Amino acid sequence: MLRFIVLFLAIIHFVYAVDTEKLPVLNLNPLTPQEAAVILDKATERPFSGEYYKHKEDGTYVCKQCDAPLYKSDSKFDSGCGWPSFDDAIEGAVKRIPDADGYRTEIICARCGAHLGHVFEGEGFTAKDTRYCVNSISLKFEKEQTQNIQKAYFAGGCFWGVEYYLEKELGVIEVTSGYMGGHLKDPTYKDVSRGQSGHLETVEVVYDANKVSYETLARLFFEIHDPEQKDGQGPDIGSQYLSAIFVANPDERATIEKLIGLLEKKGFKIATAIRQKSVFYKAEGYHQNYYDIKGYQPYCHGYVKRF
Ligand SMILES: [Zn+2]
Repeated sequence: MLRFIVLFLAIIHFVYAVDTEKLPVLNLNPLTPQEAAVILDKATERPFSGEYYKHKEDGTYVCKQCDAPLYKSDSKFDSGCGWPSFDDAIEGAVKRIPDADGYRTEIICARCGAHLGHVFEGEGFTAKDTRYCVNSISLKFEKEQTQNIQKAYFAGGCFWGVEYYLEKELGVIEVTSGYMGGHLKDPTYKDVSRGQSGHLETVEVVYDANKVSYETLARLFFEIHDPEQKDGQGPDIGSQYLSAIFVANPDERATIEKLIGLLEKKGFKIATAIRQKSVFYKAEGYHQNYYDIKGYQPYCHGYVKRF
């Protein structure tokens, strides 16, 4: 029996993996041919020519293609090499991979894979002994500005998949898997998976409302899970997997009612419940960033255009 379940999951995984691999990151910024030559085709801009080589202002250098924050201005130094140099990156923002040339280490944006440049160690420029040598054209500078941090709560089946997709939206700072809507205090995954706690697997989305709106997140939510399924999500059946949006105020409620209205006009029979936000209980650590850590694609979520 177990063998059949594994096979079934493998088939579902394969079908969705094919469908979703085209969309590893949503809403990328369009690139000019010059930007694409560096960011996509890994060309190098001429030294001493880039916009940020001599740039000195307090702020954050973000990815040109996906706006992910990559470097803080306080890690920038003048190495004399002709490209912007940083001795540190924002944690988790920059990924190191072996360069095709066989000896250098290439650096790419961890979120969208944009080519940034190369990283060198052991040159002794600063105490951190590291030089991220970055093409200006791969970057965009943002002056320090106040963020407008807000939270949104969505339940759409297994939280691993909902977290996976919402985390990739521009302006989203953090997505946490957890539980909401039930009666049991401090529930464990076991409590919730038995289906008697009343909780739904729910994600908490922390976002910068100056960069992304609640409506944009809610639209995405309706397009990464099946809002018509009444008894769960995909192969996950049970009250803990129901589709729901927990709203915190009348504005959020009005936004969701509007979106459900739009979908119903298109013929969708929406099962998503609008519920009042209640206490959010964070799930156990091993549920957080599940797919990114495991390197799998979600098995019961995928992007489908509905609006
Ligand atoms: Zn990026």
